[in-house]
Amino acid sequence: MTDMHMQIDPSCRDDSDPGSLPVNQAMDQIMAAIQPVQAVEIVRLRDALNRVLSEDLFAPIDMPVSANSAMDGYAVNSADIPLQGSSKLRLVGTAWAGRPYRDAVGPGNCVRIMTGGLMPAGTDTVVMQEHVQVTGDLITIGTHTRKGENVRPAGENFARGDLLLRGGTQLHPAELGLLASLGIGEIRVNRKIKVAFFLTGDELRGIEGPLEEGTIYDSNRYSLYGMLSRLGVDIIDLGIVRDNRQDIETTLLDAAGQADVIITSGGVSVGEADFIREILAKTGTVAFWKVAMKPGRPMAFGKVKQAWFFGLPGNPVSTMVTFYQLVQPALMKLAGHAGDAPLTLKVTCISNLKKRPGRVEYQRGILRKNPDGDLVVSRTGEQGSAILSSMTQANCFIILPMENDGVMAGETVEVQPFAGLV
Ligand code: AMP
Ligand code: MG
Repeated sequence: MTDMHMQIDPSCRDDSDPGSLPVNQAMDQIMAAIQPVQAVEIVRLRDALNRVLSEDLFAPIDMPVSANSAMDGYAVNSADIPLQGSSKLRLVGTAWAGRPYRDAVGPGNCVRIMTGGLMPAGTDTVVMQEHVQVTGDLITIGTHTRKGENVRPAGENFARGDLLLRGGTQLHPAELGLLASLGIGEIRVNRKIKVAFFLTGDELRGIEGPLEEGTIYDSNRYSLYGMLSRLGVDIIDLGIVRDNRQDIETTLLDAAGQADVIITSGGVSVGEADFIREILAKTGTVAFWKVAMKPGRPMAFGKVKQAWFFGLPGNPVSTMVTFYQLVQPALMKLAGHAGDAPLTLKVTCISNLKKRPGRVEYQRGILRKNPDGDLVVSRTGEQGSAILSSMTQANCFIILPMENDGVMAGETVEVQPFAGLV
C-alpha cells in the first residue's frame, strides 16, 4: 500500500483540488487491494438467503422433468384437432397435478388435465377449458388450438448439465426457489465476512440517555448498522469511542482481532486524523484521501493488522455516501460477489441543481414517473452533508460528474436508484 496518497488539506470547501483523488481511482485502489475470502461453508437453504454461492451450479435434472400442462383444460392428441368445424372426443379420465393419468390415451379420446398435471402418453396438446363444450363424457373442440399449445415440455426451463448459477451469485428469493425446485436443501457458500465498526466523537451520545449542551445523538451507529445488515455481513458493533488516542487504539486492535473489516465514522478530518495515523503507523498502514466527491471528501483506507480499515467522515450523509459508493463494493468483493455495479439510469432532471466543477456529487433525488409515464428526477432540497433527511426523502442519488457545473431543469442526469444498491 505504498502507492497511497498520504495527505490532508485543511480545506474541504474548494471543489477543484489537485490533491484530491478521483472517485474511480480511489475505488480502483481499494478493489485492487481486496481479494475475495476463500473459506466456504455448507448451509441449509433458508440460511443461504443473501449468501454468496461459492461455485458454479449446474442443473442436476431437466426442468421440468416431464411435459406437463400449463393450463386447466383437456389433454388431446393434436391429430384429433379438426382442420375446420369441430370434433367430439371422449373423456376417459383426469390428470391432476401430483396424480398422473397412467394409461395411454387412444385416438379420439382425451383426458381432463389440471395445471401442472403430467401429459398422459398419447397426448401432446392441451385445449383450454374455455374452448371446450362438455356434454356428459363427450367434449367438443374447435379449431383454435395448435399442436403443442399449453404444454410445458420437458427441459423447457433448462436441461440437465446447464449452468444455472455462477459462483459469486448472491442468493436472493428467486435463487432459493430455484434451488428448492431442484431438491437442493444444502448449499456451499462463502463464509460470511465480519465487519466491526465504531463511532468516534466526544460530542456523541447514545440514544438511551439525555443530551447535554453541545452533544448530539450518534446517528451513524444506526445508519451503518442498517447498511451492513442489508449486505448480510456479520456485524460487530463496538459503539462510541471518545476522541482519545488510547481508547481509539484499544478499540482498533480489539476490532482487528475479530473482524475482516473495520469501519469507523468521524475522526478523519484534519486535526482529528492524527490518532489514527499514529496508531496505524505501528499496527498497519493507512492512507488519508481527499476523494474528489461530495459529500464525503476526507476518508481513510488501510489495514490494521490483517483487517481492512475504512475511516469514513462523520457527517451523517457523508458516512452513507462514502459507504455506498466505496465501502459497499469493497465488502461485496471481499464476500466474493461477482455481481455487476449498481444500475444507473439517464433521466430528465426537473430541478435546477447547483454544482461547481471539481468533484463528483451525489445529490439526493426523488425519482418518479411524470403524468406521461416518463421517469423524472427532482432534488430533495437542501443538500448539506449533515442533513440526513435528504437521504430519507430521496430514493436515488443524482450522480453529477466531476466537470459538471450545474444542471438546468430539463437536462438529462444520471441517477442511481437506492433500490438497486443492495
Ligand atoms: P468528523 O468527521 O468527526 O469531523 O465529524 C463531522 C461532523 O459529523 C461533526 O459535526 C460531527 O459532530 C458529526 N458526527 C460525527 N460522528 C457522528 C455520528 N456518529 N452521528 C452523528 N453525527 C456525527
Ligand atoms: Mg469527530
